[in-house]
Amino acid sequence: MHRIAGDALPDFTGIADAGSSRLEPLVGEAWAAVGDAGAAFDPVSGQGIANALVSGLIGGRAIADHLSGRRESLPTYACAMRATHERTAYLVADLYRQI
Ligand SMILES: Cc1cc2nc3c(=O)[nH]c(=O)nc-3n(C[C@H](O)[C@H](O)[C@H](O)COP(=O)(O)OP(=O)(O)OC[C@H]3O[C@@H](n4cnc5c(N)ncnc54)[C@H](O)[C@@H]3O)c2cc1C
Repeated sequence: MHRIAGDALPDFTGIADAGSSRLEPLVGEAWAAVGDAGAAFDPVSGQGIANALVSGLIGGRAIADHLSGRRESLPTYACAMRATHERTAYLVADLYRQI
């Protein structure tokens, strides 16, 4: 077993932006961004893992539909992701106003 006590700890210090962000465009001719790659959420929202799972599922389905000839599937996916991201940003802003 590796002994931790006494070992030098890695340097975790640093500053990183943890605010919400979104890739635009979220989809292209034959691709869709899912999870954090598409939309990252402010940690206070607690939405990161749920979004990664949901966007992976619906993004995957949109890609399959696109490959079956349904050209509207990727823009529809992007629209749904944008709405979720904007709704969450609104709720997070409301939360910060209460602090
Ligand atoms: C400190 C911390 C605490 C968090 N706490 C919470 C929480 O409490 N609740 C919550 O909902 N969310 C939380 N999150 C956010 C959550 O972890 C992310 O939103 C979620 O993991 C995103 O999933 P993902 O699959 O999109 O990306 P990731 O989980 O980042 O997975 C991407 C994977 O791709 C791999 N990868 C990257 N580049 C390449 C490449 N070129 N080739 C092959 N593989 C590659 C990476 O190594 C990684 O394994 C937290 C995040 C952090 C950093």
